[in-house]
Formats: sequence, C-alpha cells, structure tokens
Amino acid sequence: MSKYREKYIKHHGEPPEGWHIHHIDGDRKNNDIDNLIAVPPSLHEWIHDKYGSGGQIIKTWEIAEDGTKQNERLLLPTRKELEFEVTHHVALDRKRSL
Ligand SMILES: [Zn+2]
Repeated sequence: MSKYREKYIKHHGEPPEGWHIHHIDGDRKNNDIDNLIAVPPSLHEWIHDKYGSGGQIIKTWEIAEDGTKQNERLLLPTRKELEFEVTHHVALDRKRSL
C-alpha cells in the first residue's frame, strides 16, 4: 500500500472500496494529511483529464501592466470544491443504481 494511502486510512479510516486518494495540490510528494482526499475513481480520472497530472498540472496567472506574471496558481479544484463533487458524485451514483 502507498504511504499516503496508509496515512489517509490512519486519520480517516478506510475509504469506500475502489476509491482513490487524491493529492489536492497535485504534488504527489506532499503527503500532508490536509493534502489528501478520498475520491471515487471516475471523479479522480475527470480531475486529472481536466487539470493534468504529475509535473503537468495546469496553472493560471495574470499578467501585470509591467508584463510580469502575478497570482500564479494551480487550476486544481480546492478541498471544498472536491468535497462538493464527492457528495454530488456519490448522490448521482446512488441514483444510477436505483
Ligand atoms: Zn489525483
């Protein structure tokens, strides 16, 4: 089992079967518990299809008047957004299986 999965389980218990552990900031070396969230596999694939993976995470920024980059940040969804997606996703799955 991966280190971060072990860590997640230690703090939150086993996620539902088949779920993945996602690194919220896109940095797979950042195994801080605040950076880990359990997500259904289809949502996980969607996140990385949309926002990239590994060193290829999509970033956004603004160009200031002097031509410098400002407010550079990742486009990855935040924990709050992910929690919303997970709840929503689970509700949809439940609906589908009815
Ligand atoms: Zn991920």
